[in-house]
Amino acid sequence: MNPHAWQKQWGRKTVVECSTCGRTMSERDCRDVVAERSGGGCEIRIEGWCQGQAREFQHRLPAGRGGLFVPSNGLAVCGRGNVDGCHGFIHRNPEIATANGWTVESGVDPAVKPVEIWMWGHMQASALLDDDGGYHLVPEPTSFTT
Ligand SMILES: [Zn+2]
Ligand SMILES: [Zn+2]
Repeated sequence: MNPHAWQKQWGRKTVVECSTCGRTMSERDCRDVVAERSGGGCEIRIEGWCQGQAREFQHRLPAGRGGLFVPSNGLAVCGRGNVDGCHGFIHRNPEIATANGWTVESGVDPAVKPVEIWMWGHMQASALLDDDGGYHLVPEPTSFTT
């Protein structure tokens, strides 16, 4: 369960407010949390594609399908634009990206959908992302597919 019920603030594109707790989050806040969570490194590290340094913010649910600037909906990934690196891989391989939780289907809350991420000491791990910059490991890893 996502403890937050985020909604866009009226008239503002990238500021969200939780109708449960009243907390607000701007795009800037969200990017800062994700950057701190990742430590500046790519969070998915696809072998043969990864460039290491995170340059792009991957919306797991794209903005065009209602995705918000909240940390559970974002991944720090490498690549320049949609062309190369792990970000490029995601955009070229939508089915694999969905299987790994790097993107989610419309109507799915990314906070409750595990994502395959790279972690020091774990290599690939299945985790839930919260909106405070936390990873919560899921006991039974799903297969990491590339
Ligand atoms: Zn809340
Ligand atoms: Zn990468």
